[in-house]
Amino acid sequence: MSTSGNLDSQQPHVALIPSAGMGHLTPFLRLAASLVNHQCRVTLITTHPTVSLSESRFISSFLSSFPQVTEKQFHLLPLDPTLSNKSDDPFFLQWQIIRHSAHLLSPLLVSPVSPLSAVISDVTLSSAITPITTDLDLPNYILFTSSARMCSLFACFPNISVDQFSDDIEIPGLPTIPISLIPPALLNSKSLFATIFLQNAQEVMKSNGVLINTFEALEGDILHAINDREVLDGFPPLYAIGPFLPCEFEKRDHGGNSPLKWLDDQPDGSVVYVSFGSRTALSREQMKELGNGLVSSGFKFLWVVKDKKVDKDDEESLDNLIGNELMERIQDHGNLVIRNWVDQDEILSHKAVGGFVGHGGWNSMVEAAWHGVRLLVWPQFGDQKMNAETVERSGLGMWVKSWGWGEQVVVKGDEIGEEIKEMMENNLLKSQATLIREEARKAVGDGGSSERTLKGLIQKWKINN
Ligand code: UDP
Ligand code: UDP
Repeated sequence: MSTSGNLDSQQPHVALIPSAGMGHLTPFLRLAASLVNHQCRVTLITTHPTVSLSESRFISSFLSSFPQVTEKQFHLLPLDPTLSNKSDDPFFLQWQIIRHSAHLLSPLLVSPVSPLSAVISDVTLSSAITPITTDLDLPNYILFTSSARMCSLFACFPNISVDQFSDDIEIPGLPTIPISLIPPALLNSKSLFATIFLQNAQEVMKSNGVLINTFEALEGDILHAINDREVLDGFPPLYAIGPFLPCEFEKRDHGGNSPLKWLDDQPDGSVVYVSFGSRTALSREQMKELGNGLVSSGFKFLWVVKDKKVDKDDEESLDNLIGNELMERIQDHGNLVIRNWVDQDEILSHKAVGGFVGHGGWNSMVEAAWHGVRLLVWPQFGDQKMNAETVERSGLGMWVKSWGWGEQVVVKGDEIGEEIKEMMENNLLKSQATLIREEARKAVGDGGSSERTLKGLIQKWKINN
């Protein structure tokens, strides 16, 4: 422990190890920015190569904005050929490549001049990182990149036997999780996702704590049930330090094509923003139904279209994706369709935006909460139904359970249009979204629950220095 009273020698030094995909990188870089603002020294471990262009651009932009952050490049091993048939999802494969390369991390975590006070790694990597931090005798924290509700399933997962997967899942101290909400990949114990999930859930018990991008007003009951050890005895402390705030480095230059110009011309609260995140492509058929539904809702909309999981592969023109006829109708009604990356924060913060149709990616859900924008959640895969349930319980949004998972059914345009209308015209959702926005701001404001929790953690790291 430092006794010199010298501020620098007490400055905690934290290494961050993100995983693949913007949904994982984004919370890490926002956390990194927050730690720098709280006078921590930060080392960022950057994986090379990344899966998507968005990831590499995001890292470059972050590093140029934060020259005080030390980058340590982590060059991954090539894909083990035995893995390539285990999943067709390039992001899940990359999680596994990072895990297989984890033994190369040790030298990056040794810093004789400024030893580390803590290592924070992504939950998808945790079982591969724990042996390394244990070996180096470093405090090891996990960043859980989904909702506290999903974390309750994660905590209990090793105690759930495969036979129970025909029933709803009991979570001690919390409402049962209907089986229809469980990420489909977890129901197949041989899938790559289920294997990684189980190993991580077993090893997380050895970590010093789990950080999560959520806050009291959104998931207070779940946070308490986990921290009171009702969900699982021995689960490490869960530190709710959200919402993680979007930062300046995330801004992109859209040239003359910023959607803000279009939004500026729309009345307050009138626009529906539609986006399914960074890595979810709808089928062409579903895309057309969605387009028809948006037009039939009668509301103006800003729709971000994605055709491929990985941005580098998104090449098809909008006319080909949606069809000329629908595209014309969309444009005749004065709507905006975009196929590139947008600055979601900029859009959600715009006063013209009244509602958000999204897939339930956790970062997007918390961003909607931060801006008080009500939601129609349409879960497509993974943790998204668990997140949708949380959003509905909080009153921030609604979801239509009969729509199932993304690829199960094609939801018809008329039905989509009706639900969009319901979301936009529901005053209860509107007022609750405004309340949640206020609570989100209180949580990270001076003396707020998340701010106090983060400061407490930093204090702990200082003492351990
Ligand atoms: N995002 C964005 N612009 C886009 C698509 C996504 O800014 O065009 C951001 C979004 O704001 C969020 C992240 O990318 O911070 C996506 O994470 P999320 O958990 O919502 O979903 P995922 O992409 O992981 O499915
Ligand atoms: N997850 C987890 N443990 C694991 C792997 C994943 O808790 O070992 C969580 C993680 O928070 C992830 C979520 O499960 O974000 C669902 O992953 P999804 O299939 O939606 O992929 P993503 O869009 O996050 O890349």
